[in-house]
Amino acid sequence: MPTLTGAIGDVNVGVALESMRWPRGYVGTDHGTLGSVFLSVLMALKSPEQVLGEDEVRRVKSLDPEAWYPVGSLLSLVDLLDRVVGTQGVLRMGRRRFEASHRNRVPYTSARDVVYGIDEMYHHVNRGSSIGGWTVLAFEPGHAELEKTTPHHCAMEQGILSAALSSAQCPSVVSHKQCFREGADSCIYSVSSTLRDARWSGTHTPAVP
Ligand SMILES: [Zn+2]
Repeated sequence: MPTLTGAIGDVNVGVALESMRWPRGYVGTDHGTLGSVFLSVLMALKSPEQVLGEDEVRRVKSLDPEAWYPVGSLLSLVDLLDRVVGTQGVLRMGRRRFEASHRNRVPYTSARDVVYGIDEMYHHVNRGSSIGGWTVLAFEPGHAELEKTTPHHCAMEQGILSAALSSAQCPSVVSHKQCFREGADSCIYSVSSTLRDARWSGTHTPAVP
C-alpha cells in the first residue's frame, strides 16, 4: 500500500492514531482510503492553501486518485481541517464531497436508497478488514436511524448523508442522537423528513400531487 510520507507530518499521524479511541468493533486491519477522497477534501474547500497550507495541498494533489492510502492520513487531514474551520466547516466539506465523488456514480431516488446505500458508499472508497460501517437501526415513514462505526469524522459523514438525501429529492433533517466524538461507542444519526411518499419510501410509483 502506498504511504503518504510526509503528509500532515508523520509524527502527528503516529501520535494521533495511537492515542485515538475507535468505534465499537473497529479494528481497521489494512484500512485504506482511495486517493480520490483526499482530493475531494481539497476540492470541497474554497481556498485549500489558506486552510491547510501550501505544502500540505501540494502533497495531497500529488496523490493518485485510484491508489489506496492509509486511513490515518485522512483522519489527520480532516482533524486539521476541524481545528482550522470548525465542525460547521467540516459539515460543509462533507456536503461538497458528496457532490464531487458520489452524486454521479449512484443515482439515489429516495431516502430509502440513501439510508440503505450509505454503507456501500463507505466501502466503495474504503477497504480493509473490520473497518466498521453503517447499520440501519430503523426505517419507518418519515424517520430513520443509522449507526456508524467508521472512524471518519462524523460531521463529514453527516454532510455526505444530508447531501445524498437532498440529491434524492428527499431533503431531511439529519441529527446526532449519540456521538462517538463525545464518548459514545458509535455515532447514531436520526433522519427525519416531512415527506412520506415515494421520495421517502422508495416505491417507484410517482408521487401524488
Ligand atoms: Zn458523531
